Amino acid sequence: MYEIRVDEEKCCAYGNCVVAAPDVFALGETDKVIVLQPEFPSVPPHVYRAVRSCPAYALTVGRAEATEER
Ligand code: SF4
Repeated sequence: MYEIRVDEEKCCAYGNCVVAAPDVFALGETDKVIVLQPEFPSVPPHVYRAVRSCPAYALTVGRAEATEER
């Protein structure tokens, strides 16, 4: 299983991830990203694109037991 993690200290609510994967990311009232679907059996390509699109390097994805850097 793979999971997405957010470093909320880094998230500046640019919204790139929401544009790339609106089924997985959303912006909330606090202007920090919300992960709607944090785990995947395999990571879909558009979710990888969303992680890579974050200009603040706030997103990481990796195996649930050991998250890898982008
Ligand atoms: S692209 Fe990065 S900074 Fe922008 S909302 Fe998503 S996680 Fe936050």
